[in-house]
Amino acid sequence: MEPDSSPALRAFLEALGTGCDFCQVQVRPLPPSFELRHVTDRGRPSEELRPVRVTDLRVLAQTTESGAYRALKAAPNLVSGWCCVAGSGNELEVALGHLYPGALADWAAVRKVAAAVPVTHFREFMGRQTGIYRGVRHLDEAGAAAVIGATCHPRFCLKRRWWTVDGLAPDDPGATSELPCLEPCAVLLDGARQATRGV
Ligand code: SF4
Repeated sequence: MEPDSSPALRAFLEALGTGCDFCQVQVRPLPPSFELRHVTDRGRPSEELRPVRVTDLRVLAQTTESGAYRALKAAPNLVSGWCCVAGSGNELEVALGHLYPGALADWAAVRKVAAAVPVTHFREFMGRQTGIYRGVRHLDEAGAAAVIGATCHPRFCLKRRWWTVDGLAPDDPGATSELPCLEPCAVLLDGARQATRGV
């Protein structure tokens, strides 16, 4: 492990063992490197997969197989058929950051001291919106549930929701991936804005 490794990376490498899944990506140690591939390509010979560089992963994560833009990087439609080798732990952190921005730090935060994780709940998040988003604070219970169902359901996003609203409990462990969602995202905010247009 590099001496300048981040605490999040150190936690990840300690937990990695012979390999693990990080949302839709399988990570395997190939000392001193690490191999990343889509979980559906598990077990396939590397020669069958398209080699991509760490620096290519940001672009790879931006579109679906059909070329549609992926507004949610944790959406369950990461393209498959590729293989990437990160030459070091620090490169692995960069690779995961391209695929799932910010997710490694959040993953490490909830692993370490789950009780102390700073979670921003729905009403708090919506209550501080201004400008064109100002109306979202008026979204009622049913409206909030509808927007959350249409945005955060595992069909659309694989992050596990830690925040709550009006009695809607956090997602159960195992319901989605281990990537935590610690506050509503921009896509959800936009859904809330559309639901409250004219309010
Ligand atoms: S707010 Fe919902 S859609 Fe956005 S990242 Fe979190 S769980 Fe996913």
